[in-house]
Amino acid sequence: MRRILIVGAGQAGLHLALGLLQNGYDVTVVSNRTPEEIRDGRVMSSQAMFGIALGHERNLGLDRWADSCPPIDGIQFTVPGPDGGKAIDWAARLNTPARSVDQRLKMPEWMAEVERLGGKIVIHDATADDLEAYAAQHDLVLVAAGKGQIASLFERDASRSPYATPQRALALTYVNGLAPRPGYSAVCFNLIPGVGEYFVFPALTVTGQCEIMVFEGIPGGPMDCWSDVRTPAEHLARSRWILETFLPWEAERCADVELTDELGVLSGRFSPTVRRPVATLPSGATVLGVADVVVLNDPITGQGANNAAKCAASYLAAILERGELPFDAAWMERTFEHYWATARHVTDWTNALLAPPPPHVLEILGAAGEMPEVASRFVNGFDDPSDYAEWFLDPVKTHTYLAETKARGTS
Ligand SMILES: Cc1cc2nc3c(=O)[nH]c(=O)nc-3n(C[C@H](O)[C@H](O)[C@H](O)COP(=O)(O)OP(=O)(O)OC[C@H]3O[C@@H](n4cnc5c(N)ncnc54)[C@H](O)[C@@H]3O)c2cc1C
Repeated sequence: MRRILIVGAGQAGLHLALGLLQNGYDVTVVSNRTPEEIRDGRVMSSQAMFGIALGHERNLGLDRWADSCPPIDGIQFTVPGPDGGKAIDWAARLNTPARSVDQRLKMPEWMAEVERLGGKIVIHDATADDLEAYAAQHDLVLVAAGKGQIASLFERDASRSPYATPQRALALTYVNGLAPRPGYSAVCFNLIPGVGEYFVFPALTVTGQCEIMVFEGIPGGPMDCWSDVRTPAEHLARSRWILETFLPWEAERCADVELTDELGVLSGRFSPTVRRPVATLPSGATVLGVADVVVLNDPITGQGANNAAKCAASYLAAILERGELPFDAAWMERTFEHYWATARHVTDWTNALLAPPPPHVLEILGAAGEMPEVASRFVNGFDDPSDYAEWFLDPVKTHTYLAETKARGTS
């Protein structure tokens, strides 16, 4: 039986571990936190996941919360105008509902499932030295440690990483009592020019159903405002202040909000980074990076957990296909490049949204309010961002597509 060790019990590491266990592999997962520490700890993400990524989980029977987690049926897009009103405001339905299950709920249950299927969970904060020992004892070592320090063993790929510094000051606020938007449920995405972005959507957390507020402040701007916040109550008050100041229609929904729990708040920042997929240890042994370790995007597009599921599914298929052959460095490079063929679209699109919108993107956002087909295509790109390369990211293709769509609408 082939022996595989995975560092990191997160979205990608556990998904991959469970897929391997279901296929008869001997699997060890090293986690620097116990299931109890994860469940009783701080929120880590807003983790909205779209149809394709949820499908990968469902294929392995890992979608335990499909009934209890509220569906997100669409995406609403709003840009405030200079007069304080809405300059752009439209919504479209997702073809498949999205869902957000708090990782504090999901990861402990998946860890229990690893053990139920005969896998081992080792509680340990793995170091570079540990990787040497793991590599000597296993056929394959994967590092799925997210933003953990150990990811720095993998060299930054400057050619794929246009930003060297954080592009947003991030914050999360998990709340109860937020008034639902009229009509279907949606990610309500607000783009405040020159200030940042705010989005909010329904989710399932440790206390039940809730709404998650996500703040993305441009560094140095008025939404980069978390450094003096000391308590959860202050964090909620600062969240309200942002909405009252920039998005009064979102503030109106918050008259009765309260935090889901004292640890339902988070603030921080990180640089979007793509890394080389293979790290070579002093002994010459090689280990393969997974998901955020190798492709870390800003959460502005809500793609990291989606990418993690897609990466796990892609690596799982590559490992199964490899059979008894060695997991050498060349195989590791190929395995990553196969995943990158999809992931690069997410990185391109996410990095593009971090920059001020160019004229053709403003045209799209305006046109989507007039043409439902455009709104639908934009919204469903969150599920499969490779589609954006076919229009959104290229001004010429955008103009062709908008002209054709308009002509169809008027013919
Ligand atoms: C504010 C914010 C909002 C987000 N919102 C969304 C969203 O709406 N949709 C979306 O798709 N994505 C979102 N993401 C991103 C998403 O949460 C991550 O991309 C995803 O969880 C990455 O999965 P992963 O398995 O690579 O890493 P993680 O899920 O981070 O798991 C890594 C695990 O490894 C452990 N670990 C670290 N170092 C070690 C070590 N040395 N030894 C042992 N264990 C270790 C960590 O404790 C952790 O449990 C958001 C992220 C942030 C910060």
